[in-house]
Amino acid sequence: GARPDELLDGSGLIDPVKAGAVMMRNEKPGGHGERSVAVGTLDMALWDLVAKAERKPLWRLLADRYRGGQADPHAWVYAAGGYYYPGKGLEALKDEMRSYLDRGYDTVKMKIGAVPLAEDMRRIEAVLAIVGKGERLAVDVNGRFDLETGLAYARALAPLGLRWYEEPFDPLDYRLHTVLADAYPGVLATGENLFSMQDARNLIRYAGLRPDRDILQFDPALSYGLAEYLRTLDMLGSHGWSPRRCIPHGGHQFALNIAVGLGLGGNESYPDVFAPFGGFADSTPVEGGRIRMPDAPGIGFELKANLWAVMKPLATP
Ligand code: MG
Repeated sequence: GARPDELLDGSGLIDPVKAGAVMMRNEKPGGHGERSVAVGTLDMALWDLVAKAERKPLWRLLADRYRGGQADPHAWVYAAGGYYYPGKGLEALKDEMRSYLDRGYDTVKMKIGAVPLAEDMRRIEAVLAIVGKGERLAVDVNGRFDLETGLAYARALAPLGLRWYEEPFDPLDYRLHTVLADAYPGVLATGENLFSMQDARNLIRYAGLRPDRDILQFDPALSYGLAEYLRTLDMLGSHGWSPRRCIPHGGHQFALNIAVGLGLGGNESYPDVFAPFGGFADSTPVEGGRIRMPDAPGIGFELKANLWAVMKPLATP
């Protein structure tokens, strides 16, 4: 029921920010999680369409619209993996991490928190032996700790100087984060399970996170799309947070375009997990932990052969 002027910009192209407002018309506040992915997916498709209509890659379109034409030449990306699998020992974990370094990554991430602390420390030491130094390793709890466990891990991890300690707690439990942020001098990271600007704003207001070091991982595809992500970046700016502290979750090409076009701190990558959605364009390998962007119009789905093999039949009836 939207009028054309509610959807189009001055030149008659669809305006994704206006379209986002139409998609959310008459929606109640709150309720995040059940619809934010659906809206985010539609939003992603609209930005792909608009960039193609302008014959620009999305990262270029974003830099032109929102950053005075300034796009980053490349983005820092890190390899996320290190999952627990039955029977996966330290040697298999080390082989996995070595394979990421062989593919051009300089930093890796592994899961922790599903086994006792002493066993996790053996896993962490094994990976550190491969990557060389703490700043090349991030660890991810997926929100499973209580305060006591989170603090015990913090004491064990602090001397290692890790890249970051991710999602120790339920992301909505701000008080736990404030206690941990007071106790842990290293970098904390969270946000992948917050799905709106308002969620992000509460985290920034109440979780005690530190704008000089901590990392925010809001995922634009999961949280109402880029129109909402722009609001989140505005909110962060008004609270003294640089976009460089944002490194989105998800390892998708949409967030990678946003990272380069809007000057974020980088992007997650899943070289092996979530195929064919993990990974980026086939033509742009990771070198020295960084990736350049292709020049093809849109988000670049067509440049990733295994992903395009899935999408093409859907796009061509
Ligand atoms: Mg995570």
